[in-house]
Amino acid sequence: MDDKVTFEVDVVIVGSGCGGGVVAHQLVQAGYRVLVLEKGGFYQTDDFAKWKECDAFTHAFDKGGLCTSNDGGVVILAGSCVGGGSTVNWSASFAPPKHVLEDWVSMGLSQFRYGKMHIILFTTSYFDSYQ
Ligand SMILES: Cc1cc2nc3c(=O)[nH]c(=O)nc-3n(C[C@H](O)[C@H](O)[C@H](O)COP(=O)(O)OP(=O)(O)OC[C@H]3O[C@@H](n4cnc5c(N)ncnc54)[C@H](O)[C@@H]3O)c2cc1C
Repeated sequence: MDDKVTFEVDVVIVGSGCGGGVVAHQLVQAGYRVLVLEKGGFYQTDDFAKWKECDAFTHAFDKGGLCTSNDGGVVILAGSCVGGGSTVNWSASFAPPKHVLEDWVSMGLSQFRYGKMHIILFTTSYFDSYQ
């Protein structure tokens, strides 16, 4: 069986996690043809409902949650499925510190300058702390 598939795209994104997913969305909105390659599985609500916690590690985490540095000194817990970390993380959102935002602006990401975008992204009380 010939299982080759040919796609013609403008951009290939490797990994469908928080970074890849957002970039893919933005590029599609801008009219680009985008292919996202994801090494992990694609799971839906029914799958998660069936799993015990140990199954979730096997299916949704890189190396079953046992991804380590060569010497075993560092363990890296990372999602590996469609959605990457966004599928497995706790969804806690912390506003980036001021110096990080300034750094991003200095690299040309002017949308992170204080103003309208901040009010959309973060709470008013967060900005009040900068006054
Ligand atoms: C348990 C847990 C809880 C967390 N809780 C929070 C939280 O509450 N708040 C928060 O802000 N952050 C949280 N994080 C961190 C957050 O999820 C990560 O910082 C974020 O997912 C990193 O995004 P990323 O796009 O760099 O990588 P990921 O989201 O990890 O995505 C990478 C994707 O690329 C795929 N991939 C890798 N190599 C290849 C390859 N060669 N080919 C194809 N696909 C590949 C992987 O399978 C994966 O799906 C949590 C993380 C974990 C593990």
